[in-house]
Amino acid sequence: MAREGHKYIFVLGGVMSGVGKGVVTSSIGLLLQQKGYPVNLVKIDPYLNVDAGTMNPTEHGEVFVLTSGLETDQDMGNYERFLGRDLGNEDYMTSGMVYQAVIERERALGYGGKCVETIPHVRDEIIARIEKAADHNGSRMSVVEIGGTVGDFQNALYIDAARVLKMRYPDDVLFVMVSYLPTPGTLGEMKTKPTQTAVRELNSYGVQPDFLIARAPRPLDEKRKEKLAVSVNVRKEHIISAPDIDSIYEAPLNFERDKLGEAILESLRMPEKRKASLAAWAKFVKSATNDKAPEVKVAIVGKYFDTGDFVLSDAYLSVIEAIKFSAAKLGKRAKITWINSKDIEKDPKRVNDLARYDGIIVPGGFGETGIEGKLAAIRYAREHRIPYFGLCYGMQLMVIEYARNVLGLKGAHTTEIKKNADEPIVDVMLAQKKHLADNKYGGTMRLGAYPAYLKKGTIARAAYKAEMVQERHRHRYEINNAYVERLEAAGLVFSGTSPDKSLMEIAELEKSAHPFMLGTQFHPELQARPLAPHPLFTAFIEAAAARAKSERA
Ligand code: GLN
Repeated sequence: MAREGHKYIFVLGGVMSGVGKGVVTSSIGLLLQQKGYPVNLVKIDPYLNVDAGTMNPTEHGEVFVLTSGLETDQDMGNYERFLGRDLGNEDYMTSGMVYQAVIERERALGYGGKCVETIPHVRDEIIARIEKAADHNGSRMSVVEIGGTVGDFQNALYIDAARVLKMRYPDDVLFVMVSYLPTPGTLGEMKTKPTQTAVRELNSYGVQPDFLIARAPRPLDEKRKEKLAVSVNVRKEHIISAPDIDSIYEAPLNFERDKLGEAILESLRMPEKRKASLAAWAKFVKSATNDKAPEVKVAIVGKYFDTGDFVLSDAYLSVIEAIKFSAAKLGKRAKITWINSKDIEKDPKRVNDLARYDGIIVPGGFGETGIEGKLAAIRYAREHRIPYFGLCYGMQLMVIEYARNVLGLKGAHTTEIKKNADEPIVDVMLAQKKHLADNKYGGTMRLGAYPAYLKKGTIARAAYKAEMVQERHRHRYEINNAYVERLEAAGLVFSGTSPDKSLMEIAELEKSAHPFMLGTQFHPELQARPLAPHPLFTAFIEAAAARAKSERA
């Protein structure tokens, strides 16, 4: 059971998907938190996957890993970035998880011989999970985002669960609908009808929105606001215009200006403990959107580029955000260019194009596609002293490249791709062998936060200014310890290791050999926050900015 008086704000989408429910949810969370209320943000994904770990990033976007190791949707990344803190397993739910729990309970005779039905049993499980999320972290309010759009078959059960909560706690539950107002090119006029229809659809579930966030390319004018207010039964002051913005981080500032946080608290009959202090946030936004800041050109060499441009940013979302935060901190503007490693494979000369960038990143990835192109890019970065940052796969490949071209081990490879590699520099982790043999792919990688010890006198140690750090992982393979000594003798430094020194977590070259050549077995991007940029990303951007400056000089 949730604590007495806990508040729930449900965020639902109308008209179409992709209009920014996640940003609205995150922004409301930030505003309430800044007004003095501990908040939990909860994401509901109505699909049947038990977690997001088995999904292809070109279809679903990046898999965001929590400290606990749970593999979740990228929205959870936005929530953490806005709130500036870690979220827990309770804060994420999929239909797969919900049904799995119900079915397992049924198999264990947990329903005492009853016929187990979607309503009430599955709905009860959903309500129990929403209440459980409310109970941790000492939060007073939960902002719960229901994935999909009103009218979907898949999310109806969740809307019904929210309705039941409203019925039980009428004073403690609010509904916020994020809707879209199109302006057809032929008319040049903003239309409210689809939103009216969406609200009516929601009404048919027995739910009335208390707030309407009106997404559109331009601000909603007074006339339409009035019209909409009357037709959808939402107070005019509760219709908030949310025109397109350059940066999602502007959203909370705009909502605060439009008094959204205040109005939500007023509707919940909660005092506004203090005005939201958003000064640091505003400063970050100003720096992040400053077009005049000196440019740093970063190339991301990867392979998840197949489904059209708009997906790029989703597959590597946290990496992009981490770059932005560090650039903003340093007063720079990062210009990111996507380079498909398959193109370098097709035409090896294209690797020379990398000369024009100030820094190169090879991000995480799986499988064989584009591997040799990535290795060529890494070699180019090393030989031409271009700052290089390898994330997970990007670190494994950096070590393979070093083994092949510096140690002279031509057969160096990862057993992920070449099972019987002559020189298995990167090999499957012992604990992983059985999972793979049993076809157990879901939730079985090395996942979540693990400690790493940082060696004195290294780039990593200087960047973190700490001896021990915690970073989040998501991989099955690791550097093969049989090669560590030889690699070190050839100049590669393993600057981060597991505390017992059995796992290599960071590899780097000495500063005298290369301005910045570093790879991490973990995913540092998952812990970068707007107001707390990640130290390794900052060190990388700093090195790239130094190159940019010397090129321009
Ligand atoms: N494919 C590699 C592994 O499983 C790297 C994974 C990653 O980059 N996240 O170890």
